[in-house]
Amino acid sequence: MVGAVALSGPAYRLSLERLHALAPRVRAAAERLASIWPAARQREGLRAVSRFEYHQPESLVEAIALAERYGAEASFLAGGTDLIVQIERGGMAPRHVVGLERVPGLTGIETNGRIALGARVTHRAIERAAAFAGALRGLVESAEVIGGHQVRNVGTVGGNLVNASPAADLVPCLLALDAAVTLVGPGASASCPWSASFSAPTGRPGVPTSC
Ligand SMILES: Cc1cc2nc3c(=O)[nH]c(=O)nc-3n(C[C@H](O)[C@H](O)[C@H](O)COP(=O)(O)OP(=O)(O)OC[C@H]3O[C@@H](n4cnc5c(N)ncnc54)[C@H](O)[C@@H]3O)c2cc1C
Repeated sequence: MVGAVALSGPAYRLSLERLHALAPRVRAAAERLASIWPAARQREGLRAVSRFEYHQPESLVEAIALAERYGAEASFLAGGTDLIVQIERGGMAPRHVVGLERVPGLTGIETNGRIALGARVTHRAIERAAAFAGALRGLVESAEVIGGHQVRNVGTVGGNLVNASPAADLVPCLLALDAAVTLVGPGASASCPWSASFSAPTGRPGVPTSC
């Protein structure tokens, strides 16, 4: 919730009272938009956007339990640059979306003896990692050509791999570097060569479940 919005100068200052006064009108406009939106999308030949329940687990165990509970009706959400676009286009309609932003331990870049990237490491973080020189420079070069700044700021390694687009820029580099991927399931985890886990896209993303 936004308490006050200050742009510049007193003329632009919205007090809390003014926001409260505006709230019913904003809500009415949002409801009106929600009621005409599906018809407008249909006129444009687009499918209705699915509604989903959003979950924000605070641990990996909780995230995996949610994915297990809702099965094929659930999708993980990292940066959302693939998933949200697919939902918007009607290509995917998960009933449950499991956000990973509160799950700790997924954003680290380990460069101590071995190189390990957390699933939620962004393309921007790879670009900025000073340790990626020499043979690993290809990783930076792959990350820095992905989309624009906005996409690289939120798009992640995990999302790029699991989405498995034939145009995914990190995939060829990780295959060339013989990367391994850590798969985590209920009560177990396994490290597999990415080349063994990677499969041609089937038209919808899939999480590899075993090596
Ligand atoms: C304008 C635009 C330009 C783009 N340009 C490029 C480009 O040049 N090159 C390129 O390669 N890609 C590009 N992309 C695609 C996208 O940005 C990348 O694939 C990105 O890495 C996806 O990561 P994400 O975190 O946003 O994934 P999300 O959209 O959050 O997720 C993608 C898929 O992976 C699953 N997932 C995510 N994280 C996990 C996890 N930890 N475990 C299991 N499943 C998971 C989700 O459920 C979903 O199915 C572009 C996208 C946009 C919108």
